[in-house]
Amino acid sequence: EACAKVIDGKAVAKKIREEIGAEIARMKSETGVVPGLAVILVGDRKDSATYVRNKKKACETVGIKSFEVCLPEDSAEQEVLKHISEFNDDPSVHGILVQLPLPSHMNEQHILNAVSIEKDVDGFHPLNIGRLAMRGREPLFVPCTPKGCIELLHRYNVEIKGKRAVVVGRSNIVGMPAALLLQREDATISIVHSRTRNPEEIIKQADIIIAAVGQPNMVRGTWIRPGAVIIDVGINPVEDAKSPKGYRLVGDVCYEEASKVASAITPVPGGVGPMTIAMLLSNTLTSAKRIHNLP
Ligand code: NDP
Repeated sequence: EACAKVIDGKAVAKKIREEIGAEIARMKSETGVVPGLAVILVGDRKDSATYVRNKKKACETVGIKSFEVCLPEDSAEQEVLKHISEFNDDPSVHGILVQLPLPSHMNEQHILNAVSIEKDVDGFHPLNIGRLAMRGREPLFVPCTPKGCIELLHRYNVEIKGKRAVVVGRSNIVGMPAALLLQREDATISIVHSRTRNPEEIIKQADIIIAAVGQPNMVRGTWIRPGAVIIDVGINPVEDAKSPKGYRLVGDVCYEEASKVASAITPVPGGVGPMTIAMLLSNTLTSAKRIHNLP
């Protein structure tokens, strides 16, 4: 039986971290500039705390200075805005990231708008998203997860131009920007979402599938055109009595079935996840270079 090539996001991310680390070391010694990333965490969601910890650790490994603000769940929106404003003005900070989701009493739009677009390393500011959507305009930053998906396609020499791509999911942070990026690369895109009728018929036409749904194993082997390339963004915990934690992580695509039909596929975990953090580091380095006018 045919077996898809595994797109090893973990290995690619490691290579990118090494490239970034070397560049930062050179930059430090030649110019004294040290890139800085500020992270704001509100509340005590366990998953958010883990993401923030991983981002901080990754910064250390490449030589990015990290700044962290942790605020209690019941903080006022004004408090978050105050920290954003301080980081906007702080010349040692080149990237500002507000960990989502925010507590429900806060206005996410209000807060994301407050981040200076020059330091918007998550790429969530509406101006950056707007530029991403427009021909002939360049966003200062592209959101990390979709950027990581495209980077994987590039590093595995998957041709995008002229291909049919289907993005499953249309969230602001993954699906929508992924579709915009594929379109910028001259793919013909379709977007499948929760109101799409017969999603399998549309997905079956895809040369490239990016799945970002949050539904374990939703995309089945029979939905996939033979030879398609699959980027699975989903991270879904499912019960597993055999695992010491009592659960394991699976993607939005049924890996076991899909790997028999596709030509290449990302595993979960070890696919897109590590790329997201690598792209955050990359965006932070780019920002430091731009702010200090370095080549
Ligand atoms: P959201 O919940 O914000 O968006 C999910 C999208 O999927 C929505 O557009 C929704 O449609 C669509 N959808 C939901 N159910 C179906 C269905 N049955 N059929 C078709 N479409 C459906 O999720 P995110 O985009 O934030 O995340 C998606 C997944 O990616 C999650 O598993 C998340 O954990 C993971 N993730 C992984 C990251 C990484 O670094 N690897 C980073 C971010 C997320 P509608 O718009 O109609 O509601």
